[in-house]
Amino acid sequence: MSARIIGVGDVERCGGRLVLQPGDLLTPLARDRANELGVVIATGEIAETVLPGAAVSVRPTPVRPTGGRPTGPSSPTGPADPPVGALYRRGAPVVPEALRPEVVAGLASPLHRAAAAPGHDHGNGNGPGRRRPARATVVGAGHVGATTALHLAEADVFDEVVLLDVVPGLAAGLALDLWHSSALSGFATRLRGTADIAETAGSDYVVVTAGRARQPGMSRTDLTEANAAIVGGVCEGIRRHSPDAVVVVVTNPLDEMTHLAWRTTGFPARRVIGMAGVLDATRFCALAALAAGVRPDAVEALALGSHGDEMVVPLSTARIDGRPITEVLDGATLAGLVTRTQKSGAEVVALLEKGSAYYAPGMAAARMVLAMAADTGEVLPCCVMAEGAYGISDVYLGLPARLGRGGVAGIVEVPLTPAELAELRTAADRIAERVGALQPA
Ligand code: NAD
Repeated sequence: MSARIIGVGDVERCGGRLVLQPGDLLTPLARDRANELGVVIATGEIAETVLPGAAVSVRPTPVRPTGGRPTGPSSPTGPADPPVGALYRRGAPVVPEALRPEVVAGLASPLHRAAAAPGHDHGNGNGPGRRRPARATVVGAGHVGATTALHLAEADVFDEVVLLDVVPGLAAGLALDLWHSSALSGFATRLRGTADIAETAGSDYVVVTAGRARQPGMSRTDLTEANAAIVGGVCEGIRRHSPDAVVVVVTNPLDEMTHLAWRTTGFPARRVIGMAGVLDATRFCALAALAAGVRPDAVEALALGSHGDEMVVPLSTARIDGRPITEVLDGATLAGLVTRTQKSGAEVVALLEKGSAYYAPGMAAARMVLAMAADTGEVLPCCVMAEGAYGISDVYLGLPARLGRGGVAGIVEVPLTPAELAELRTAADRIAERVGALQPA
């Protein structure tokens, strides 16, 4: 049976009990509606009553021992994944509820938080018990890195956020500046800046933003040579000093740098993830909201494929207020929105005339880290290693991925039209060609 996307209408018509099949996707709006109506959601043998005002729990997703690679529910050989909480939980607080101090291992006060300080249980969250993640490091204290660090600190869920940059004093100065805002923002996460990667040791999550950014007229691929050297060096350091970390790559060209980070760290693919789809999807949602005259968080969309010309925005999965987007906006408008989304990065670069976008990218990277740290099981579009899902293997590209404490907990196969699937496979081929050019001679 193919997976279905369950929308608000399905919830309202279900008569108080909704039975989800393996692989079905319940949209965030539909989940909220179920919550309001007190609908009973049956997931296989487990039934959950959604009480008004209560958060809906999602069955925990086992991380399968797959030799280090993520497997998908639709992987030809693998079993189906259980239903997921959300495709893209727009509007969700950047601090996932599960990580609020009062719900993380009962750590309610700064004093208690100290009990989860670095040195305690540096596993990857796949073991028993839930602890507050101790340390997140952001490599590169430039525009994106500083923005990411700000959001991670403001979430107030880590003991420490460390900024690292090669420019002497830059990371330390920004860390101090960010810390000065703590009393106003109300966070207790410590901030530290350094130019020595050894001082980031034992990080749970490392976000890599180090590298050159685009200037007007440049494509992301123009950055390959310079940034491959930087990302390669940084990842050597991560491998040495934070061998259990989950790495989130931001540096462009994104798909190639994520592959390089995976290769250089030698980490299992589930612990090396690229940030692109969360940004591209939120860009589409923001632009579609303007076109439809709705709130941006009323739009749900995915952005898959590459972070570049082969970006795929599967309109068949997009919704506005729970309705198929194709019923709300006409074809020409939608085609224009997809094109503008694909070129949004360049549009910002051209306007800035110096450097590239950083507010939305920084927030997108933080969003991924916080989803993992909270072990939410959310499904977000991320650059992940494909291993059979969508008929694609052995290449990093944007796919819907369920995120958990230890990184990618599974790849989710949503139903796509034949044309969308063909676009996705073309993206995989193009990325594989570019990655091939990165291989050592
Ligand atoms: P930036 O120039 O403001 O900052 C980059 C920082 O990296 C600089 O401070 C630099 O000193 C530092 N750096 C360089 N080499 C380093 C090393 N070996 N170790 C530690 N730090 C090092 O650039 P930015 O605007 O922050 O962008 C950073 C990267 O993110 C670029 O490659 C950009 O293209 C990319 N980006 C990706 C996305 C995405 O969606 N994936 C979005 C926006 C930007």
